[in-house]
Amino acid sequence: MALAFDEYGRPFIILREQEKKSRLQGLDAQKANIAAGKSVARILRTSLGPKGMDKMLQSPDGDVTITNDGATILELMDVDNQIAKLMVELSRSQDYDIGDGTTGVVVLAGSLLEQAEKLLERGIHPIRIAEGYEMASRIAVDHLESISTKYDVSRCKRALAEIAVKAVLAVADLERKDVNLDLIKVEGKVGGKLEDTELVQGIIVDKDMSHPQMPKRIEDAHIAILTCPFEPPKPKTKHKVDIDTVEKFQTLRGQEQKYFDDMVQKCKDVGATLVICQWGFDDEANHLLMQRELPAVRWVGGVELELIAIATGGRIVPRFQELTTEKLGKAGLVREKSFGTTKDRMLYIEKCANSKAVTIFIRGGNKMMIEETKRSIHDALCVARNLIINNSIVYGGGSAEISCSIAVDAAADRHPGVEQYAIRAFADALDAIPLALAENSGLPPIDTLTVVKSQHVKENNSRCGIDCNDVGTNDMKEQNVFETLIGKQQQILLATQVVKMILKIDDVITPSEY
Ligand code: ADP
Repeated sequence: MALAFDEYGRPFIILREQEKKSRLQGLDAQKANIAAGKSVARILRTSLGPKGMDKMLQSPDGDVTITNDGATILELMDVDNQIAKLMVELSRSQDYDIGDGTTGVVVLAGSLLEQAEKLLERGIHPIRIAEGYEMASRIAVDHLESISTKYDVSRCKRALAEIAVKAVLAVADLERKDVNLDLIKVEGKVGGKLEDTELVQGIIVDKDMSHPQMPKRIEDAHIAILTCPFEPPKPKTKHKVDIDTVEKFQTLRGQEQKYFDDMVQKCKDVGATLVICQWGFDDEANHLLMQRELPAVRWVGGVELELIAIATGGRIVPRFQELTTEKLGKAGLVREKSFGTTKDRMLYIEKCANSKAVTIFIRGGNKMMIEETKRSIHDALCVARNLIINNSIVYGGGSAEISCSIAVDAAADRHPGVEQYAIRAFADALDAIPLALAENSGLPPIDTLTVVKSQHVKENNSRCGIDCNDVGTNDMKEQNVFETLIGKQQQILLATQVVKMILKIDDVITPSEY
């Protein structure tokens, strides 16, 4: 909108077409935003816990993903509401910081929004709610610390979890309490059973030797890692070569061959027994390599090359002239392994000079299963890493949330102001996690929660949670269900933050096309 004057000095208003905006104000704005946030949380609620349902998502180009990982579901959902996007961000930040608990954090935020809505209807000012939530979140985070215990990482014993722990321990720097997850490669191949998933001390690359007659097994390999083309320079279109006789053609061809021959010789001179290239080379070059007994692997991706370089202690060579003996990577064994009856082969680079770099090799019946296992492994790796950084844990199955809920509720009584309503609402919101876990496992939610809550108070046992798998005990210590302290604290902090942010919005202005 703009104010202008005509030639006689009379004012008039210019309204630009594209500037027509729709606008929501005050309580309406808050309610609309809360509704959007809640609807995202409702989608994820049924995916929470060991009995959580999977979601099937299809991308515009027809790719199907089946998953129950919160961050992945939201990532693929393609929402266009701004508040819903905030919830997606929320899950993403939990994934980024902690790597696990991405569903729980959204469910918690949804529940906080639901409680806030009730308070708004009772006439409590949103700022008061936000402040009450902030106080409550601090109480909950401190309480979590007080019920946490220490856990020894290497105690974990369940197939996939064990693989994840071993992998993390293999690359961890225990002194500096640091874990570089980039050193763990997760590779999958369709076929076999999930139980065939294994941890390989080394790197696996989904490639094979460039020529079938090259050796399938190289011991004590000295590897040249090239990111430059490994072939004679090709004449570019702007170069002009006049070839009018057969002799000239043959000279040119001879020169090209000689050039490549020199390249191969150079590799041999520096002592390379294997060449791994980022780029390809043509059949002629391939044949020559085979003849000159220099095995090669082509079309290896950049990330993989980097991992190979780290694992074998080699250097990536970007210009052929820079190839020297010191830059070669070393591996005790490089072998090609074939799978089933197919021609599918993969390259195993093992017994590397720098043994820190491992691969988790996932097998499974179909691509979707492998992808979902990759996501589970990612979560497991993150948990194991977090435990090395800080080995404090709280028990899961909703037990930590119930314990916090009781502590926060008790604290509400000590606050004289209006905030006490918000603090109490926060306590109620925490119950959403055990309620959802119970519901998803087919248990009556309210009844189950009431029983467990009274156990907490009567027996003073903060480890009671929801017995989702019907084990027969709801003591989560006996069930060995736990979560990292930092993960749980982060969930509460992040959920509170985003809810406070949503509550503070009292004016929503959007272009009217929406
Ligand atoms: P997230 O993406 O938030 O990690 P999950 O679907 O992994 O979501 O569910 C995590 C929740 O399930 C946590 O509250 C955890 O304590 C609980 N949980 C996991 N395994 C069990 C179990 N065996 N029994 C009871 N609760 C469990």
